[in-house]
Amino acid sequence: MRDPVPQVTYLKDYAPPAFLITSVDLDVDIEDEFTRVRATLALQRNPRSADSAAPLVLNADELELEAIALNGAPLPASAYAVEANRLTISSVPAQFALTTVCKIYPKQNTKLMGLYASKDGYFTQCEAEGFRRITYFIDRPDVMARYSVTIHADQATYPVLLSNGNLVASGDASHQEGKTPARHWARWEDPFPKPSYLFAMVAAKLDKLEDSFVTRSGRNVGLQIYVEPGKLDQCGFAMQALKKAMRWDEEVFGLELDLDQYMIVAVGDFNMGAMENKGLNIFNTKYVLARPDIATDGDFMHIDRVVGHEYFHNWTGNRVTCRDWFQLSLTEGLTVFRDQEFGADLYSRPVARIQEVRGLRAAQFPEDAGPMAHPVRPQSYMEISNFYTATVYEKGAEVVRMIHTLIGRENFRKGMDLYFRRFDGQAVTMDDFVQAMQDASGTDLAQFRRWYDQAGTPVLEVSSAYDAPSQRLTLTVKQSCPPTPGQPDKLPLHIPFAVGLVGGDGDDIALQLEGEGRPGGATRVLSLKSSEEHFVFVSVGQKPVPSLLRSFSAPVILKYPYTSEELTHLLARDADAFNRWEAGQRLALDILLRAISTLQAGTEPVFRESFVAAVARVLADGPTDPAFAAEALSLPSEVYLAEQMKMVNPDAIHAARVRLRRHLAHSLRAEFAAMYVRQRVAGPYSPDADPAARRSLRNLCLGYLMELDDPEVRALCMEQFDRADNMTDAMAALAALANCDCPERAQALDRFYAKWRGEPLVVDKWLGVQATSRLPGTLTQVIRLLSHEAFNMRNPNKVYALIGGLRSNQVRFHAADGAGYHFLADQVIALDALNPTVAARMARGFDRWRKFDAVRQSHSRSALERIRDTRGLSKDTFEVVSRALA
Ligand SMILES: [Zn+2]
Repeated sequence: MRDPVPQVTYLKDYAPPAFLITSVDLDVDIEDEFTRVRATLALQRNPRSADSAAPLVLNADELELEAIALNGAPLPASAYAVEANRLTISSVPAQFALTTVCKIYPKQNTKLMGLYASKDGYFTQCEAEGFRRITYFIDRPDVMARYSVTIHADQATYPVLLSNGNLVASGDASHQEGKTPARHWARWEDPFPKPSYLFAMVAAKLDKLEDSFVTRSGRNVGLQIYVEPGKLDQCGFAMQALKKAMRWDEEVFGLELDLDQYMIVAVGDFNMGAMENKGLNIFNTKYVLARPDIATDGDFMHIDRVVGHEYFHNWTGNRVTCRDWFQLSLTEGLTVFRDQEFGADLYSRPVARIQEVRGLRAAQFPEDAGPMAHPVRPQSYMEISNFYTATVYEKGAEVVRMIHTLIGRENFRKGMDLYFRRFDGQAVTMDDFVQAMQDASGTDLAQFRRWYDQAGTPVLEVSSAYDAPSQRLTLTVKQSCPPTPGQPDKLPLHIPFAVGLVGGDGDDIALQLEGEGRPGGATRVLSLKSSEEHFVFVSVGQKPVPSLLRSFSAPVILKYPYTSEELTHLLARDADAFNRWEAGQRLALDILLRAISTLQAGTEPVFRESFVAAVARVLADGPTDPAFAAEALSLPSEVYLAEQMKMVNPDAIHAARVRLRRHLAHSLRAEFAAMYVRQRVAGPYSPDADPAARRSLRNLCLGYLMELDDPEVRALCMEQFDRADNMTDAMAALAALANCDCPERAQALDRFYAKWRGEPLVVDKWLGVQATSRLPGTLTQVIRLLSHEAFNMRNPNKVYALIGGLRSNQVRFHAADGAGYHFLADQVIALDALNPTVAARMARGFDRWRKFDAVRQSHSRSALERIRDTRGLSKDTFEVVSRALA
């Protein structure tokens, strides 16, 4: 027998809620084995609801009802019905107070949604549908209420009691209740109405770092970061990140914090990165804790970005929230765009853009081409947790960025101002956002809105024709979009297409379109709107090399028949840094795809010397912009290569990439070695952009040198590992050694663990570096690590590091014997019983299974079917595997 198929929720079925909740009074009593939640809701019928006689339906999940009263009078059992996921009262007045008392069991809550216990106390996560695991509620974002929350707990074990808003009263309750050990309580009130997904509370033993910030209107805001006892020395950077973000949002968007205090709480057990609960952000420790010896440059940068992201949500998400979960990208796409801009202002703008595009190509493009493809505004879901995706976040940010490109920076700012003027305090839709941008800029964005509703990565096929006698260059641009599940046919999109023309001397040619009186600018944003368009540039005195899609002006796949000479020219001279990088990636991609075919045909590839020469030039230029050089010298990833192939051969991809790395290392050994020495950073560690850039180029050189399999280089690597005063250099050395079948490998891994076993975030790195090793024994080692003291299936960070690490290890996960697939199926099934959100994320490892050969496909299919047929499977995991099998 199979479980019933979970229900699907559709965007087209949206209707306003039948009831509104104006205020919530919560009383949360934390006992040892359970927590009792008394909630009094002030309810009224919604005048905007079409059904004025609808029964009251409250969402519920794993709640034990103890008492229920309407306007203070207990309800008889016949007046209401309790089902697994809801409480229904068929007859209610137009306006009333409803009190419920229920018991919940946070210590048994392994889903980490709702209220759950972690090492140092109790924490919450309510987005998207966690609040219904705390109390009976109309748990949807368009129901916004004022909250007052009283928390009672044991004083010694949980000295810190927090909720959203302001602390209005607290006390010692032991004498009243006559309970031992002593208990205390605290009452918090949040002056801002908010949706339930932004509710948060904490009862824990934590240390506190305090600081303050004076807003530009002169208000003094108290800032607090709460962390596990003993870790105060690891949260200074996060505090600085918060203050940088506050200043930036005032300067760039004119947005000031509306609260008197702002709190961040870090917890080690957390499904996501961080959560923007009003005034009380709850963070994965990964994005708060950092110290030079335990965090890499990348970790520091992520802390800046994530702290900024959650802070920016206070306006784009909390002040103006989404009407329903289909609009999630309204808050997420916009806020990711804002944190990307913040990062670009703090670090290198071109390198930030390169990294965004790398991420997009590694995660979002494959998603858009697979069974989970969905528009930025999905049309339906079984489980909303499955739609916190690269499409909603990263493609959503690209869509916002395209609006920014089309209407310009000033109009974008006007659009943001108008958006807040119109919708502050409301729950709205993506159409509302686009309309504000359209009204503020006067640009027609009607066709542009298709980006929100069409899934799939558009393809631009571009060709050019140069006519020397008339000095005209014609660009022909055809756009198309492949079919995706449920969307066989696509309409043309409105695409900002930034182009430049690079002359033989490397300088940009001034652009003049036919019909224009004079040339204007070196980069032009063309508005593509039809399936085929022609653009004629005049007064082009020489045959140029087109520099297309500058700064990656749209999330599309660009096809243009570049010759390798043209790409080499762009790599050396294009004024657009992104396209310099892109030209190098195209050259490398071409060489790698040829090498893959050669290897598949059973012969050894030979690499062009012109490519080695181009790489040598980039390396020689390294000191002028080391962060860029490190990006330009990184070959396209195995995932990206796989996406370029009709049928993926993971062994040939891996072999070709390693061969090319070795070839470059042999050909440029002296150059890599010299740059390794030259980029050494003197003085004490700082995570700032400049020294971080030098370390990235230096460690890239070390990585290439380690391809030589030379004892001298290994000794150098071991020396860096042992002497490093920072985690960036230590991890770079450890990662290189972990890929190497040599005696130093085990020594380094053992020493690293012995040194850092007490730091969970560093242990995650240790697990991850083993799970992503290219060595053949990796899967066996990962299976061994599952029962190591360092691993814990209940901790999402550990799961992402070890199981997620193996899942992303293309050559080992996709082993031809199916062992990787079998392993992942086992882990998904085990995880599903504990934490369906995390299990479903891991199950996404099968997304691209149809791109592999018949033998691998049959292994994948049986793994997927085994997961699907598991008794009691969550709807989270069911949705992912059933879509994969469809
Ligand atoms: Zn967010």
